[in-house]
Amino acid sequence: MIDLHSHTWFSDGQLSPQALISRAATLGISQLAITDHDSVAAHRSLAAADIPAGMQVITGVEISTLWDNREIHIVGLFVDTEDAQLNALLKQQQEKRRLRALDIGLKLQKSGITGLESYLAELPCEAISRNHIADFLIARGHASSKQQAFSKHLGKRGRFHSNADWCSIAEAVASIKAANGLSVVAHPDRYKLNKIKLRRLLAEFTEAGGDALEVSYSNLNPDTLKNLADLCCELDMWASVGSDFHTPDTTWMDLGRVRKLPAHCESRAIWLHPQWPATHR
Ligand code: AMP
Ligand code: MN
Ligand code: MN
Ligand code: MN
Repeated sequence: MIDLHSHTWFSDGQLSPQALISRAATLGISQLAITDHDSVAAHRSLAAADIPAGMQVITGVEISTLWDNREIHIVGLFVDTEDAQLNALLKQQQEKRRLRALDIGLKLQKSGITGLESYLAELPCEAISRNHIADFLIARGHASSKQQAFSKHLGKRGRFHSNADWCSIAEAVASIKAANGLSVVAHPDRYKLNKIKLRRLLAEFTEAGGDALEVSYSNLNPDTLKNLADLCCELDMWASVGSDFHTPDTTWMDLGRVRKLPAHCESRAIWLHPQWPATHR
């Protein structure tokens, strides 16, 4: 089983890289891409001895970009984690994350909610996420769930919303390419784009040299899966598959918990891409 999208505590995942791959091995995953938000630190922290026999870890990343005033996530797979261009971009993105957290912290303070900064300082992450801030708000009793923390406080219409000036899709794709990686548009139905806009987004992505569409992921209904597979074929893109695992608590997003690619899309599986390393075939 292959899972090409997952997170560790170096971004907003709950597990250490070691705990993540050990869970993946237990669940029968043979290839796991660790794709933290704007960070490749998980890969630096892993030693060859950490990886269970019969399992392969793929060096990945998930870069936040801004397109049409929306946050679009681009996954990179098989990136060279030492690449200078990629690392320069990730450093910038991490700084933008810090600035956004500071801004949200100020907004919280104005409403009498203090302590965000010290809460965040205790976390092992390299990339601070609104997901962490949602945890903080829940711990302090200001939200009853993640969903509510986003809808009431942190999302676009939330009272503590703060924009981040992410890089463009073209910059993300260029940096992934510079690091010899393949790029994927993550969870395309989560952006609430109409059909025309989604096509425009994918056209810009492929023009910029992007490779694939995440066709199957957690919590996807069969109709959407079929629509995405059709779109992937029509636009002549490669197809990726990933759970977007963050925590063992959300069992419906567990590692490997994704539907298979529909038959008409199987020949487009990204692991058949000529650039997919022979060592991982
Ligand atoms: P950020 O990368 O800082 O913009 O934070 C976004 C992250 O928060 C996503 O990667 C998800 O893990 C999580 N997230 C976003 N929206 C929601 C939501 N409505 N409910 C739960 N988690 C969410
Ligand atoms: Mn996340
Ligand atoms: Mn994402
Ligand atoms: Mn993700």
